[in-house]
Amino acid sequence: MIDKIAEYFENIENFPVMSQASPGDIFNNLPNTAPSSGVDFEEIIKDFDNIIMPGITHWQSPNFHAYFPANNSYPSILGELLTSALGLQCMIWQTSPSAAELEEKVMIWLAGMIGLPKEFVGTIQDTASTATLCSLLTAREFYSHGEVNSDGLFNKKVYRIYCSTEAHSSIEKAVKIMGIGKKNLIKIPVDSNFSMIPSALEDAIVNDLRKGYKPLAVVAALGTTGTTSVDPIKEIGQICSKRKIWFHIDAAFAGTALILPEMKHYLEGIEYADTFVFNPHKWMMTNFDCSAYFVKDKETLVKTFEIMPEYLKTQVDNHVNNYRDWGIQLGRRFRALKLWFVLRSYGVEGLQSIIRNHITIAKNLENLIKSEKDFEILAPVLFNTICFRYNPYFEENDEKINKINELLLDRLNKSGKIYLSHTKLNGKYTLRFVVAQTNVTEKHVLNNWNFIKEIAKEILSELNSI
Ligand SMILES: *Cc1c(COP(=O)(O)O)cnc(C)c1O
Repeated sequence: MIDKIAEYFENIENFPVMSQASPGDIFNNLPNTAPSSGVDFEEIIKDFDNIIMPGITHWQSPNFHAYFPANNSYPSILGELLTSALGLQCMIWQTSPSAAELEEKVMIWLAGMIGLPKEFVGTIQDTASTATLCSLLTAREFYSHGEVNSDGLFNKKVYRIYCSTEAHSSIEKAVKIMGIGKKNLIKIPVDSNFSMIPSALEDAIVNDLRKGYKPLAVVAALGTTGTTSVDPIKEIGQICSKRKIWFHIDAAFAGTALILPEMKHYLEGIEYADTFVFNPHKWMMTNFDCSAYFVKDKETLVKTFEIMPEYLKTQVDNHVNNYRDWGIQLGRRFRALKLWFVLRSYGVEGLQSIIRNHITIAKNLENLIKSEKDFEILAPVLFNTICFRYNPYFEENDEKINKINELLLDRLNKSGKIYLSHTKLNGKYTLRFVVAQTNVTEKHVLNNWNFIKEIAKEILSELNSI
């Protein structure tokens, strides 16, 4: 199996990046009942190669530039292998002290690497979505003095939560799950850089207070999903601090960049934050899932989630972290191990040089795109996500241009050579090119850029010949 994994990485560029499967292809190739007796392992692997592989989208391909990556690396894979061999369930300290204490330690390492103030303590969550839900639930319990946990949301002032129009969908999901209702999630407008406008936030809060609502929390993005824009952390933090509102920072993707000294300025105002999340499983070479969630006030977090059934009590409860009380799940995977393997194998400098290289390659690509008169950059490139479109007719916001770019994306992805995704910015169909895959090089990106131009020209000549 180890050889097979190594071989996969050697041959990864021979597979179409985005799976070329049609709906039902895999399902219809599998029997409708489980086998009544065991099947040889070789048979299983053969079916894996023949049935499953064609339906795999190759996230670890260096030609994967869609969404945000879900990077892995050899140290991470080996850590994950050991994790599954040990097969732990790390709900409390006693169920594996090493899991609890390694988690505590690697979270201290990460906090130091990205430069969080020293009051912040961390825990590993499955995803940023869960971390954001935990943060908002903690805000709810903090400001209701635990009353929602005990009595429910009845007879309370209506809570309001704020984020920008560019914020991730996980915030709306959290607001729905926690019983606040999505119409009480207020989307604050953004400026021309897609960053939240602080004065608009303040106006919305004042307006809500006047109407008798209870402003509960603000979620700022440090790297939005569409364009990796950054909300003004300090200004938002000051508003939250003045009005006694919970402040959560969602840095799911771009948080990893904060290990670079030249990116630390984005953290200005972090002292106002209550909670902060970023995903090593996106850009820190640590395979999915591994989300680093940091809180300033551990007690409030634990008060929100703690349970103490008799059968889970131990004699050391006052001296250790029982991570079942730090989030939603009781049972927890041993995720710290792969992260420890990654951090030690690369070292901080090794990780910094990979991240810096990605950002440099992206900057070079941005310049190449800018130098082509038929292409436009549609958002500032702060990190390594490039938002652009093909605009051979030099028109603004034209439906025709949107259609061309939709066609371009479809043709690029169906080629199997490259995988990009899209967003919409001010009504413009926008292609997103993310340079963040573990093994991506300048050469891959240059080849891919040339391929994009070639397909774009092909589409234009087809349109002109109609
Ligand atoms: C990717 C992303 C998320 C969601 O991450 P999950 O770990 O998949 O839940 C949340 N916020 C932002 C800004 C993201 O980019």
